[in-house]
Amino acid sequence: MSRRILIVGGVAGGASCAARLRRLDESAEIVVFDRGPFVAFANCGLPYYVGDVIKEERALQVATPALFRGRFRIDVHTDHEVIAIDRGARTIAVRDLKSGATRTERYDALVLSPGAAPIRPPLSGVDLPGVFAIRSIPDSRRIRDWISSRDAKTAVVVGGGFIGLEMVENLVHRGLAVTILEKLPQLMPPIDPEMAAPIASHVKKNGVALHLGDGLACIEAVDGGGLVVTSERGARLSADLVMLAIGVRPEVALARDAGLDIGARGGIVVDRGMRTSDPNIWAVGDAIEVPDVLTGQETVLPLAGPANREGRTAAESIAGRTTAFRGVQATAVVGVLGLTVASTGASEKGLRRAGVMNFGKVYLHPGHHAGYFPGARPIHLKLLFSNADGRILGAQAVGHEGVEKRIDVIAMAIQLQGTVHDLAAAELCYAPQFGAAKDPVNLAGMLAQNVLNGDMPAAEWNALGYVDVLLLDVREPHEFAAGHIPSAVNVPLSELRDRYTELSKNRDIWICCGVGQRAYYATRFLRQNGYRASNLLGGYTTYTAFNDAGLLT
Ligand code: FAD
Repeated sequence: MSRRILIVGGVAGGASCAARLRRLDESAEIVVFDRGPFVAFANCGLPYYVGDVIKEERALQVATPALFRGRFRIDVHTDHEVIAIDRGARTIAVRDLKSGATRTERYDALVLSPGAAPIRPPLSGVDLPGVFAIRSIPDSRRIRDWISSRDAKTAVVVGGGFIGLEMVENLVHRGLAVTILEKLPQLMPPIDPEMAAPIASHVKKNGVALHLGDGLACIEAVDGGGLVVTSERGARLSADLVMLAIGVRPEVALARDAGLDIGARGGIVVDRGMRTSDPNIWAVGDAIEVPDVLTGQETVLPLAGPANREGRTAAESIAGRTTAFRGVQATAVVGVLGLTVASTGASEKGLRRAGVMNFGKVYLHPGHHAGYFPGARPIHLKLLFSNADGRILGAQAVGHEGVEKRIDVIAMAIQLQGTVHDLAAAELCYAPQFGAAKDPVNLAGMLAQNVLNGDMPAAEWNALGYVDVLLLDVREPHEFAAGHIPSAVNVPLSELRDRYTELSKNRDIWICCGVGQRAYYATRFLRQNGYRASNLLGGYTTYTAFNDAGLLT
């Protein structure tokens, strides 16, 4: 008798597991159940369907049950919810949501890929008509219909993370006036606040109203139609529609009821082959806990890339191959109204939370390609590394073009346990319209090398205002006049070699310029002349970000 493999959830993790299993085992009987009307659909495309960027709903259906049957001999049952697992009998109970009938299905191996559900806080009004969360094609269809049928003009998006920002972009694209309500004092909570500051400026510049540091209190329906969102700080925001985008929670009810181990982060516990605490059950995707490649600690990471790789890993494990999932490092990218934000590995706040203190960081703002070629735009880049051995810990970047390319390169270096020296030495593509002979990735590595070997000590932005130092701005007077750090004195780099004796050798000198490059030259010059000089990395551009984020006194 052929081996019977049942899969619960037929989207990112479940569908990739099923297809990989077939490639490994032609004899297995593979059956997929999904309670929704579709399988293998593009969740990540849903906001763009709402925004009418993707115009046809069927474009979201990457594969259909018929394709699974025809191409892979895999049976897919949509509108079928798995409601219980009997581990002793190795069966599941399945309810056909159309007929209401329940039946029992036997398995030799069971794979759980039920995903994660949007969080709906227990607040008054969150279930009102016009209040949406987005997870499925029917959700996005309902939002589209609501916008069209109500001729919606205004929206409040609660939550300024990945999905919130994607919804903002798409609602703006649909012509709605959008307000973001975010409980934290920054957008994009996974990245550091000073890196998130340019995102806030950008969305505001694009007409989006922003309420940071303010959470949702309740939502009310207004007579005659429309909603009013009241924030914790008492703001009252009128809206024709409200999007809840405050995060997701692993769907573990089925696993928990079956007695499978659930971890401290709320996900199903699995080993490196994706096997749960039951040897006949595997689990993948948003519902599980996986190790962080940097810390080794278990985490939950609701992203499509890991879900797909975990599905593949589970298939290999079920097929009896030796396999080990490498872990995750939260490599992610989001676009919002023309701005690109990407990150990989640890953030500074994440490191501090984990008690990791012996790290260094550099800020830089290089052009996305050679400055002499028309159209270069800055990439704001932050690199975090271990002071002990130069190992790369994380990176964040904000800009327009070429942002995710740099983060992808650094992500790969992190996976291979690379150091800042590897980034400095990396050989990357270059032609003027694509990059620079010293790519931003190389520059980030070189800067970090300079910090590590003492050539260019980095002044600590967070200490600005708390320490007695001379702030020296080495830009030209007209640049200084256009804006500078309070109490800075201006000695342009072009005059420094003639005027440096005006400076005291007995005082720390923190040097600032536009983006850090001239300050580097000045730092090197002064240090070679016996001065205690450090570079305020990233210069006035980084200062502005820290200031906008409210991080300076
Ligand atoms: P899912 O893809 O959610 O699939 C789970 C399926 O299981 C669902 O269809 C559900 O109906 C079904 N199911 C659950 N319980 C049962 C049951 N008991 N019986 C039967 N069926 C069941 N990630 C990125 O990396 N990049 C992006 O740009 C991105 N954008 C996103 C945008 C949106 C709007 C959303 C919602 C997610 C986005 N994600 C993105 C996240 C990504 O889609 C998920 O990480 C990924 O789909 C998780 O895969 P999964 O298989 O674990 O769960």
